[in-house]
Amino acid sequence: MTDSLLEYRNCPACGQNDFEVLFDSNMGEIDFQKGIETVYTLPGGKYGRHVQCRNCRLIYVNPIEKAGKINEDYSKRKSDEDIIVQRSRLHATRSQVRLIKKYDSGTSLLDIGSGEGFFLFNASKAGYIAKGIELSQDAAEYAKKEFGVDTEAGAFEGLQLPENYFDVVTLWTVLEHVPYPLTILKKAHRILKPGGLLVVLTPNIEGIPAKILRKRWWEIRRLHVNQFTTKTLTDIVKNAGFKNVSSACYRESISLLYLVIPILRYLKLYGKVKTSLQPKSTLGKIMDKIIVVFPSKLNYSTVIAFK
Ligand SMILES: [Zn+2]
Repeated sequence: MTDSLLEYRNCPACGQNDFEVLFDSNMGEIDFQKGIETVYTLPGGKYGRHVQCRNCRLIYVNPIEKAGKINEDYSKRKSDEDIIVQRSRLHATRSQVRLIKKYDSGTSLLDIGSGEGFFLFNASKAGYIAKGIELSQDAAEYAKKEFGVDTEAGAFEGLQLPENYFDVVTLWTVLEHVPYPLTILKKAHRILKPGGLLVVLTPNIEGIPAKILRKRWWEIRRLHVNQFTTKTLTDIVKNAGFKNVSSACYRESISLLYLVIPILRYLKLYGKVKTSLQPKSTLGKIMDKIIVVFPSKLNYSTVIAFK
């Protein structure tokens, strides 16, 4: 039964089918019946079989759950209490916009996988005519309502977009989720103007937390089907036709509220203190204001490239 829910794929970066198994899946039949938990997954959660391509060294999950099933789960993702903690993205996304401004002086921007619109909000404030595309209907609605940003619900792959149009295309923590990242990068290349800027960020499996925690690294989870390093991320961006590919680092930040809630959930204490941690409560406000800052390269690879 489980087999009918899975599909094998060639290396999503180079197309070869020559890999070694790094570690096996820890999922049982019952896990497949549950929808994918899309926002918070704690260390020690479920994950698929991780393999490494012998040709290009990319680490990816093989087999994966069928792409249709994955998209369905994402499209149904709800933006409810996770909003509370994700609000801390407002701080980090300001730094992301500053990073873009260093390389680009254009006006039109597309954010693929725009989620609840935190980045779009800050990009718009910085003067961009910013558009987002997001699989989760609920998240796209939230972005429109809360921030008034232009967001469309659906899959980027199926979206009709003008070619040679955007000054900037961004993919923040998207490529680790998608079965066919090269297809997305090639389409991003088509819709960018000549000389346009691409910014891609993914978790870095060679980062310090990954090296220390190994299989318990919080980015090893069911919904992450590709695990990039700065090298393999650079290579796939080059394969899609981009030029002048380099890595970058910016000031990532999270609020104390964001850090504490997963810990409380892990300890099964969150339900009891939820009300006092609402962002509008006194304690919530204080904890939301305390920002922990760290260089993005600690846990992520960021790649800058041009058409
Ligand atoms: Zn490969």
